[in-house]
Amino acid sequence: MKLVALPAFTDNYLWLWHNGQKAIAIDPGQASPVFEALDNLKLSLEAILVTHHHKDHIGGVQELQQKTNARVFGPEHSAIPNPYQVLHAKDKIELLDQTIEVLEVPGHTLSHLAFLTAQGAGREAQILFCGDTLFSGGCGRLFEGTPGQMLSSLAAFKSLADDTQVCCAHEYTLSNLKFALHIEPQNTQLLNYNAHCQMLREQSLPTLPSRIGLEKEINPFLRAHLPSVQQSAKEFDPTVADELSCFAALREWKNTF
Ligand SMILES: [Zn+2]
Repeated sequence: MKLVALPAFTDNYLWLWHNGQKAIAIDPGQASPVFEALDNLKLSLEAILVTHHHKDHIGGVQELQQKTNARVFGPEHSAIPNPYQVLHAKDKIELLDQTIEVLEVPGHTLSHLAFLTAQGAGREAQILFCGDTLFSGGCGRLFEGTPGQMLSSLAAFKSLADDTQVCCAHEYTLSNLKFALHIEPQNTQLLNYNAHCQMLREQSLPTLPSRIGLEKEINPFLRAHLPSVQQSAKEFDPTVADELSCFAALREWKNTF
């Protein structure tokens, strides 16, 4: 199976996962980049996976579904165009001879899903399609959920294997790392990763997919349990005293950073 990131809008990635003949599109906010890729790679569209109901994740669903007859899967939400199959936590779907597990990860929106592939036969790393829940060096804004909901959604990601590939839906990495470096200016891995990502972006290359193991080392939103991160968060909110209050402070601080 191959993974392709299709840039769309100003900073979205629409992900395609394919076997050389058939493809699965994740969060096609726009139909045209998907049609273009299907054409270039000579693929037919088997299925569409939707993580959440925001327009930049579902804008292309209807047109793609109508023109390709692909099956559509997603969370329960009235904005997602019918017909589609509603999925819930722990559901498993079989597509292209691959098993994909469904996670419910509320926070950015309440009915947000993530999709986790099973480990490949050649022991290829699992892939996590996390929508707008986790970004490299950051996390999604809390439009509908609470900090506690988002923290437990991110905790589920932290429990995945370190080599799990993380397919985020936006290229927000450099601006996230700017904030991360403010929180942890001495974090050597973060400094190295920032330099690496700057080089990639200078060549207009995606910084994604990331890896869970890396995110646990550099992403402040996965590190709110650490006393040093809590200490930094006190600059924004002096009442920070534990992981949850630290996470909530970081999330709010980042909104205006
Ligand atoms: Zn969103």
